[in-house]
Amino acid sequence: MRRAIFPGSFDPLTLGHHDIILRGITLFDELIIAVGVNADKKYMFTLEQRIEFITKAFITESRIKVLTYEGLTVDFCDKVNAGFILRGLRNPGDFEFEKAIAHTNRKLSEIETVFLLTSSGKSFISSSIVRDVIRNGGDYSILVPDTVRAK
Ligand code: ADP
Repeated sequence: MRRAIFPGSFDPLTLGHHDIILRGITLFDELIIAVGVNADKKYMFTLEQRIEFITKAFITESRIKVLTYEGLTVDFCDKVNAGFILRGLRNPGDFEFEKAIAHTNRKLSEIETVFLLTSSGKSFISSSIVRDVIRNGGDYSILVPDTVRAK
């Protein structure tokens, strides 16, 4: 069984995440969307809301699960018996950042990180841009899946 996790804050889920998740599930038997819980981080959406956006968006796909985690990503992989971490790459900045994390995770465990490039047209989307548009009363509907739009 090839099980991967897709870790992130998902504050909120965007069409960029959605794209990586739908393409990622074609590579694995099961994909766990791992919603990070960090006591020091300020979120716009509550943990319950962030989970609900994802659960509802993938309700028809039984191989996609949603769980929360705290602490090291590699420890969570161990706990759920996942051999792979899925991450998305939007730009060179993401690459440099992700490279350091992937190397560290590889030192800490046997885990392999699998990267997918953003589909064209979605590389500019980030949760922080969505939050900015929301804060300033703009139309964010073109940036997020229906389940987030409904909020
Ligand atoms: P984090 O808090 O770890 O940055 P995010 O929720 O912002 O979590 O992102 C989780 C993952 O989704 C990361 O691998 C990130 O690169 C990827 N991602 C975010 N937005 C996009 C996008 N527009 N296209 C592809 N991947 C994306």
